[in-house]
Amino acid sequence: MKYRSTRGQVAGQSFESVVLEGLAGDGGLYIPEQLPALPADWQTAWARLSFAELATELISLFVGDDLTRGEVAALAARSYSTFDTSEVTPLVPLGARRDTFVLELFHGPTFAFKDVALQFLGNLFEFFLERRNARGGGGGEAHKVTVVGATSGDTGSAAIYGLRGKKNVSVFILHPKGRVSPIQEAQMTTVLDDNVHNVAIEGTFDDCQDIVKQLFGRAAFKRAHSLGAINSINWARILAQITYYFHAYFGLVRRGVAAPRPVFVVPSGNFGDALAGHYARALGLPVAQLAIATNANDILDRFLRTGRYEKNSEQGVRATPSPAMDILVSSNFERFLWYLARDHEAPADAAATPGERERLAGETVARWMEQLRTSGSFAVSPAALAAARQALWSGRCGDDQTRAAIAKYHAAQPPYLLDPHTAVGVHVAETLAPEIAALGDGVQTICLSTAHPAKFADEVIQAIADAGAQIDFAAILPPPFVGLLDKPRRCFECHNSPDAVARHIEQVAAASGK
Ligand SMILES: *Cc1c(COP(=O)(O)O)cnc(C)c1O
Repeated sequence: MKYRSTRGQVAGQSFESVVLEGLAGDGGLYIPEQLPALPADWQTAWARLSFAELATELISLFVGDDLTRGEVAALAARSYSTFDTSEVTPLVPLGARRDTFVLELFHGPTFAFKDVALQFLGNLFEFFLERRNARGGGGGEAHKVTVVGATSGDTGSAAIYGLRGKKNVSVFILHPKGRVSPIQEAQMTTVLDDNVHNVAIEGTFDDCQDIVKQLFGRAAFKRAHSLGAINSINWARILAQITYYFHAYFGLVRRGVAAPRPVFVVPSGNFGDALAGHYARALGLPVAQLAIATNANDILDRFLRTGRYEKNSEQGVRATPSPAMDILVSSNFERFLWYLARDHEAPADAAATPGERERLAGETVARWMEQLRTSGSFAVSPAALAAARQALWSGRCGDDQTRAAIAKYHAAQPPYLLDPHTAVGVHVAETLAPEIAALGDGVQTICLSTAHPAKFADEVIQAIADAGAQIDFAAILPPPFVGLLDKPRRCFECHNSPDAVARHIEQVAAASGK
């Protein structure tokens, strides 16, 4: 199994190098050169597997010779043992209907879906680094990675919990001081492991992101500290997320559905979650449809309506009740676009060979991304738009609609407490009900739930209060959140400057005897 870049200049990369590198050298994202085939009997052979066993089957298809099956199994078992339910991602009925479910992806250590990927990625990083060190060849120096990232909340805490205590890895997470929710701030800064370093920047999330970008742009600094990234463009995160689509399918089978044909509705920001669903379907999972739900930051919904992918540059990112989906562009969409370009942007010579089509796809994606950078938008051909609309449905959910959905399901029988991100998906699922019904009998709707409601307590309590109801929040608080705000913290407060952050990283490295 080899990997190529979506922008066509890099190919033939191994799984290990793709995981450790993150972004390809040409600025593109890594995708598998070929999709593997599932075993012919997967529907029966995999039906009774646990989540970790299912993950082992799926991940093993993508790692080439870089990991043995036993190694994948050990990594998966360890990664998913930190979840608070043996099902890892349970399927729960929503409302009184028998064909509508919530797929709860928030049972990991930070109560957001990013744990599914980052628990695994943290263990994978540690494994690859340890193996490199055991093999030697580092010129006497140990292979180490310094992960540096910026967060507006969810990614940072999931990354910290994925990497805490890992050997040969240190992690610096920048957050805008005073601008992440109290729970998120406490989740990050109460992790006291030696290798975890929180940095509160006197600025905005964009300032934090800028600083990270600048540090990665300093070649000497990047080399000296072996900077690594685990942001949502890392292929291993997408790969790990494919598992829960299959797990949900078997969950329906276990509930007595003979031949499930689920519609998955996915609250989307950077399109990593939804992209895993796209790969699950491409591998052969019977998916009736994949629908993406955006909040007011609706670049994906607008693209699927118009064929034009356009940054809302004047307006900028809008702050919504679902902040983990507040984005200007969706970084993982580039991977979807590559397939669109290969299959539907007609090459000049219709008889082009597969290799030729792949080369042209890389060129097309590189051109689109250049147009996006210079003019803020690009448009795909009518044929490509038609294909995209066939592959993905979409809908948008405004702030008031998000709050109304939270209040509605809190009042429903039986009640269900939605977090604001999940509420965006549930609202869009409701608006798509006629289209879903038109797919015929035997279709189930599965709304992906990306965060525990306690993580966004203020929004949830307010939405319910606005509707004239009340909620005893203490009753649903997960045990790790109890007393969290009062625990000891460690955090470095830093000026809004790349030099100041670089100095801090150097001082920490020197003090730890690097
Ligand atoms: C990150 C995140 C999302 C968006 O997922 P993408 O993969 O970026 O589309 C949605 N909800 C929550 C709670 C998240 O943390």
